[in-house]
Amino acid sequence: MFSEAALLLVGDELLSGRTHDVNLHRFSRLLAEMGLPVVMARVVRDIPQEISAAVKDSLSDQRVVIVTGGMGPTNDDLTVQALADAFDLQLVRSPLAEKMVRDKQREYGLGMPISALKQADIPEGALPVLNPAGIAPGIVLHAGNCVVICLPGVPRESSALIMPCLRKAGVKPRSVNKIIFIRTWGLKENDLFDDLKKLAEKNSVVPGFLPSPGRVDVKVSGMGADGFAADVMKKLGSRVYSTLRDETLEEALGRKLLSAGLTLATAESCTGGGIGRGITAVPGASSWYAGGVITYSNNLKISLLGVKKKTLEVHGAVSEQTALEMARGVRRITGADCSLSVTGIAGPGGGTDAKPVGTVWTAVSCGEVEKAYLWRLGGERESVREGACARALGTLFELLP
Ligand code: ATP
Ligand code: MG
Repeated sequence: MFSEAALLLVGDELLSGRTHDVNLHRFSRLLAEMGLPVVMARVVRDIPQEISAAVKDSLSDQRVVIVTGGMGPTNDDLTVQALADAFDLQLVRSPLAEKMVRDKQREYGLGMPISALKQADIPEGALPVLNPAGIAPGIVLHAGNCVVICLPGVPRESSALIMPCLRKAGVKPRSVNKIIFIRTWGLKENDLFDDLKKLAEKNSVVPGFLPSPGRVDVKVSGMGADGFAADVMKKLGSRVYSTLRDETLEEALGRKLLSAGLTLATAESCTGGGIGRGITAVPGASSWYAGGVITYSNNLKISLLGVKKKTLEVHGAVSEQTALEMARGVRRITGADCSLSVTGIAGPGGGTDAKPVGTVWTAVSCGEVEKAYLWRLGGERESVREGACARALGTLFELLP
């Protein structure tokens, strides 16, 4: 049976930096969860000989080789021919693939240009798989005790086709160790590592740390994983926002607001709408998120949110008082039950000795409670901004029951 996977990503655009790869990222995760770790991945140019060579190089005992990209009808789509060449096979018109292509062309109202039928030509002996999200069928080709699966490059299509192709290829999920993700906000990776060292030793686990600005996921598997997770939750309290791998901080916050029947509004300065963007990425957020404002200038902080001119003069825009008045102001104008605000110096310029780059104030206002927090964040502009978003969200998460 199959025990591991290799990925070949075909496309000049991936190597020129025009396209950000999505397929490796998605598939390596999916396959690892199925107990088929991706042990090798390679990006290949749109050159048939190079694609063929890469396919041949990737073959190994019990391996699933997945190729994405270059499956379309145009002249620069060369993967299927290259696959056939790799195994000295002819391309033949597959009646089943032809039906799939014709049905899809009709469904999409595209007529039936001859060029589209190129997508029905597959290596002899290969199996076509219906594409639920596009036209080009997936292709499954058994080669000894390996199998090669070719998928379109468009991530929406490759993601829709991967499971049907794996099933067609007879690839079954293997039993895997349970993996626990402990998702934290507002902690630095190094501090977290030091904090959890003893707990890891006690539970005989080797946790992995996956940091992004303002958020660190701790990943753990094996026998001691449950005990470790319980210990970590006890130690970190509400700095853990979820143990569900896919639950974001915004979703976790939404879950709390929803169950408390509260609505939220946001007032952002240095994050420029990043908090609002993160929140509105959550489906159904409109049931708990009223909206937000970006008050970047002092004038708008005054005219829209009612921040006092004097506050700005005496304490500055990046201060506890301004953050609190922003939070108060946005609650007043939106009528929301809770609010968040953030104001800071994202850099690279604008820092002073007293308020260096990375100084961020966040505030929450919820019911009768008002609180402001000072953060000293490191890193470049984008990392300060993202880190500030996580901290603003986290402070409200912490405050809610
Ligand atoms: P099409 O029929 O659209 O031509 P295709 O299977 O031939 O599909 P490509 O031509 O290689 O695929 O790529 C189509 C689109 O998908 C391009 O916009 C490309 O940038 C994008 N794409 C290809 N591979 C990836 C990848 N690994 N990650 C993200 N996007 C990708
Ligand atoms: Mg193409």
